[in-house]
Amino acid sequence: MEDARKLLESLPVELQSQVLRSVSLKTLTTLQVGGPAALVCPIRNPEQALRFQDLALNHDFPVFILGGGSNVLADDRGFGGLILQVATENLEQTGDTVRAGAGMSFDGLIERTLDMGLTGLEFASGIPGTLGGALVGNAGCYGHEIGEFLVEALLLRPDGRLEKAGPEDFGFRYRETDLRETGTVVLEAVLRLRQGNVEQAAVLRREKIRDRQAKHPVDLPSAGSWFRNLPAAEPQGRRRAAGALLEKAGAKDMHEGDARVFAKHANMIVNTGNATSSDVLKLAARMKKAVLEKFGVDLVEEVRYLRP
Ligand SMILES: Cc1cc2nc3c(=O)[nH]c(=O)nc-3n(C[C@H](O)[C@H](O)[C@H](O)COP(=O)(O)OP(=O)(O)OC[C@H]3O[C@@H](n4cnc5c(N)ncnc54)[C@H](O)[C@@H]3O)c2cc1C
Repeated sequence: MEDARKLLESLPVELQSQVLRSVSLKTLTTLQVGGPAALVCPIRNPEQALRFQDLALNHDFPVFILGGGSNVLADDRGFGGLILQVATENLEQTGDTVRAGAGMSFDGLIERTLDMGLTGLEFASGIPGTLGGALVGNAGCYGHEIGEFLVEALLLRPDGRLEKAGPEDFGFRYRETDLRETGTVVLEAVLRLRQGNVEQAAVLRREKIRDRQAKHPVDLPSAGSWFRNLPAAEPQGRRRAAGALLEKAGAKDMHEGDARVFAKHANMIVNTGNATSSDVLKLAARMKKAVLEKFGVDLVEEVRYLRP
């Protein structure tokens, strides 16, 4: 693997100036943990994505795709490869569909679609991160998921192919898709919404945001739920909250350094100051062990760990 400086020099000058060097991952992730990222390439259009990805491929450089960083734990040693930071932010409406850049803030998209007279996404109001991150992780809450709305997406495959894909290519399931671990970049998406009752949707949106403000860590850095909820006990039943098991296993009293389990939600880890990635990993391991010992349940991480 060549070093970051050499890699950068092999780029045409106009692209070199767009690449950011040695950026703290604390500033790119909502948990605010992590060391320096060697190279960060903001992607504003498919051509740029192709050029950067081609560069990584030709120089055998590891790549990590980043959206809003709201579901990622970065390591204190940083990341020596190339971060493709998806920042495509186009938005066009055609009837009851929108074509949106995957780098758009997901919550911003919800607000803008309501302004366009389109409803449907308001259930997800307040979920941090980008549309791309939401699609790749099939983000959801209150019984709905983003995957229900996808018509088509523009993807950049790791071998450099730009490709249109439908919901079947994503394979949407609970907080997971077939794309997540493949190195495929989601560049934009077409979503089908409804020309519904916007006032009612706006009321629901405000309620969801209030609910989140009451239950989630709004003033402390976090990465959302650490572990996935458990499958339902009966075929049509609701998933069982991992937080309930964690609470009964005593997780709310746990901390490691400045990483602490959030007092109002036992499935969330907050950074109360200068938490390190090893603090967070140790704490998550203790939480997991406590649930395994008390209930015999092996929790599965939802947050993605960006290894050095
Ligand atoms: C306070 C709080 C509350 C939350 N509540 C919820 C909730 O209710 N429901 C829920 O589902 N999640 C929730 N989350 C988690 C998180 O916000 C979502 O998973 C979000 O959709 C992640 O988007 P992101 O852009 O931040 O992705 P990132 O964290 O940047 O990345 C997450 C994963 O997606 C990949 N990725 C990101 N963008 C792209 C792209 N364009 N193309 C390909 N791969 C990409 C990354 O490689 C990584 O594997 C919450 C988080 C916080 C901090």
